Amino acid sequence: MPNDDLVRRDLNVLWHPCSQMKDHEWLPLVPIKRGDGVWLQDFDGNRYIDAISSWWVNLFGHANPRINHAIKEQLEELEHVILAGFSHRPVIELSERLVELTPAPLTRCFYSDNGSAAVEVALKMSYHYWRNQGAPEKHRFITLSQSYHGETLGTLGVGDVALYKDTYKPLLMEAITVPSPDCFQRIDGDSWADHSRRSFALMEAALERHGHETAAVIVEPLVQCATGMRMYDPVYLSLLREACDRHNVHLIADEIAVGFGRTGTMFACEQADISPDFMLLSKGLTGGYLPLAVTLTTDTVYQAFYDDYDTLRAFLHSHSYTGNPLACRAALATLDIFKQDRVLERNRRLAEVMGQAVSHLADHPNIGEVRQTGMILAMEMVRDKTTRAPYPWQERRGLRVYQHALTRQALLRPLGNVVYLMPPYVITESQIGHLAQVAEEGINLATRD
Ligand SMILES: *Cc1c(COP(=O)(O)O)cnc(C)c1O
Repeated sequence: MPNDDLVRRDLNVLWHPCSQMKDHEWLPLVPIKRGDGVWLQDFDGNRYIDAISSWWVNLFGHANPRINHAIKEQLEELEHVILAGFSHRPVIELSERLVELTPAPLTRCFYSDNGSAAVEVALKMSYHYWRNQGAPEKHRFITLSQSYHGETLGTLGVGDVALYKDTYKPLLMEAITVPSPDCFQRIDGDSWADHSRRSFALMEAALERHGHETAAVIVEPLVQCATGMRMYDPVYLSLLREACDRHNVHLIADEIAVGFGRTGTMFACEQADISPDFMLLSKGLTGGYLPLAVTLTTDTVYQAFYDDYDTLRAFLHSHSYTGNPLACRAALATLDIFKQDRVLERNRRLAEVMGQAVSHLADHPNIGEVRQTGMILAMEMVRDKTTRAPYPWQERRGLRVYQHALTRQALLRPLGNVVYLMPPYVITESQIGHLAQVAEEGINLATRD
């Protein structure tokens, strides 16, 4: 069956995520028949390197034999069971290993089935903790500008992406927004650390002013991915941890995108040597196989809920597929691969190759910056290199890069004017070379006029 036939049927009945469906009058949908490692293959036999890990979830390639095997095994034993009052081996093993793997004060795993839900859990838990402690006035959240924490009403409230948020403003809670330490905005001569440290003064001021009414500060450690791979220095996280303690406010680390090696370390928080009060994981957790998310927290938080039933202090939150056994098995297989293959070590070399492959683009007349943190590499197209003035969003230049890449065996999906690579870790050096070439061609085409 060729692509066209499926596309026709699809457009009859589907409503795709994050899409203006009218675009598909001229922008072809790409139905995928099979995946194999970094490759995706459509029904006409065209192949594409998945340079964006299918929205940042895939770590070890599509149809990975080891993860496939684990899921098949689990399928024969138990597909799903209620997690309230019941339990199962995969979820216990996974929790033990996550507690072992994450910074020491994190000792409890609360599961859900997508990143937004994990954020919602952390927001509710943090507020509820303070309430249980007799401080219900601590009900607000501090967030960074340009942050993204999901699409549900609660997570949009603590996010800062105008495109996704503005329409729903009347429905959202009002967070306290502090300017991001985004190092793209640093002045010439400043290092990332200088800029991040200086930006922190604004966070300190917000905590001084609002600490008494604030439950938690929520951040994406090191890279604000959804708003264009905006990066900052670990020193910001060290300062933030110290300040949160001083102001008696929780720190929520949303590692949904950056966790599992994306920034070079297993978790981004490690680079600042800090431990948050809540750590959120999803996306790469199952290697990109099945929906699963976890909110990790400390014994201090846990104990504030632990009491006789009639005190009504329990956290009565649930999702139908909480801790799904198939997803947990995929996660366990993923963690096994990290251990067996010394993935983080190998990635250091791959990250170097990625950086070298595009470093010359820093001199491109319409590239404002090439930036990288570990396995995340971004190139920002600008209208004016000296002022870094952006192209108007209406011109959709990133889309031209996307369209070009599809003709050259690559799936690149820029975020606005930001072209980025965030590939599965099984990519080869020559495939990175190809992606760099395609990105450059795309950028040249997209900035030609
Ligand atoms: C993707 C993402 C989320 C939301 O996860 P979903 O599974 O898409 O709901 C939250 N925070 C960050 C940092 C993300 O990148």
